[in-house]
Amino acid sequence: MKELEQMYESLGIKREVYEYGEMILSGLKDRFAAIDQMAEYNQAKVLHAMQENRVDATCFAATTGYGYDDLGRDKLEKVYAATFHTEAALVRPQITCGTHALAVALSANLLPGDELLSPNGAPYDTLEEVIGIRESKCSLKEYGVSYKQVDLLPDGSFDFAGIEKAIGPKTKLVTIQRSKGYATRPSFSVAQIGEVIALCKRVKPDIICMVDNCYGEFVETIEPSDVGADMIVGSLIKNPGGGLAPIGGYICGKASCVERCAYRLSAPGLGQEVGANLGLLPSLYQGFFLAPNVVSGALKGAIFAANIYERLGFKVIPNGSEERHDIIQAVELGSAERMLAFCKGIQAAAPVDSYVTPVPWAMPGYDADVVMAAGAFVQGSSIELSADGPIREPYAVYFQGGLTWYHAKLGILMSLQKLVDAGLTELK
Ligand SMILES: *Cc1c(COP(=O)(O)O)cnc(C)c1O
Repeated sequence: MKELEQMYESLGIKREVYEYGEMILSGLKDRFAAIDQMAEYNQAKVLHAMQENRVDATCFAATTGYGYDDLGRDKLEKVYAATFHTEAALVRPQITCGTHALAVALSANLLPGDELLSPNGAPYDTLEEVIGIRESKCSLKEYGVSYKQVDLLPDGSFDFAGIEKAIGPKTKLVTIQRSKGYATRPSFSVAQIGEVIALCKRVKPDIICMVDNCYGEFVETIEPSDVGADMIVGSLIKNPGGGLAPIGGYICGKASCVERCAYRLSAPGLGQEVGANLGLLPSLYQGFFLAPNVVSGALKGAIFAANIYERLGFKVIPNGSEERHDIIQAVELGSAERMLAFCKGIQAAAPVDSYVTPVPWAMPGYDADVVMAAGAFVQGSSIELSADGPIREPYAVYFQGGLTWYHAKLGILMSLQKLVDAGLTELK
């Protein structure tokens, strides 16, 4: 379409880059159709949960103070539980982020003398301090909870024999991380997670299996709670918030586990009864309603980026044709200049802060400067289009999000345009 090409040109995308993108896209029709079908299924799943629970306008009322008898808050938790097929759910703006949700779930269900097991090697960076792998005040270690991990096999798969051996009399809880996060291993499918859970339960039937579900929600038609997870945990400024939730986290699972999480989050005796919603419920409901579609746009963006950069000769993880288990795309660009150009493009395509230039900066917890591109409505939201990475070998950017497929597409075309303009890649 001529008008569309002109519109892209006015945004800064030159014809050759636009046409390159269209050429790549013409090969992705079947994959996009499959994603649309999955989103349609997940949309129906969320709608069904909302209808079944008779969501109505009274659910959106703001509460303050203690938040006793907050019907809208309680019903939102029922909607999450119905969608993820769990007995109970804790979905709260008082859970400040994903790490907080995971810390609550762990510390509520582990007591002094218990052992925590990670069967996928090192957990997400921020959990190292929660667990006490890196010394930290108030870590689980300080409270007498020990920790063991079983590394993945060289091919990135679970070491089933090693896991079986690692489960002992003290092992109380197993934490499984669905998304690779900022590691280079592959992410796990829900089915693979189900196999690990089955093994753990066979060895020790009363073991609690928790899944860090960050970045994974609505990427498949089933969730880890459908394959035996006792708790699934995530952040509302990622997938399930649909871009609208301004804060929050969730823990869904067995009533016995979730109840303890509520007591840990508020106070023993209070639990789920307190916690005012502060007027945030409309965005939490509506964000959850939109989430399946938002996730499908982000997935299309990730696949589009993988196929463009793979064709240009860069290593991309996952590769252009692999199945997806989360919304993260890594691209190894091989140089700091290319990382900066890529991030400049993502930033320039943003609806907010499009005029700023990302510069690498020292960040706590990293041994190299980190560059980040994000022009988000919600600060730090990574379901919105964003890219970042530490400036060191292999010079990889981690790219994720996009509230609409069209925005994700523009961001990727813009990243390519910046690389081409700087003479850092050639279209081929
Ligand atoms: C994002 C994320 C978390 C939690 O991070 P927050 O920034 O605290 O929300 C935990 N695990 C994984 C795999 C993640 O992607």
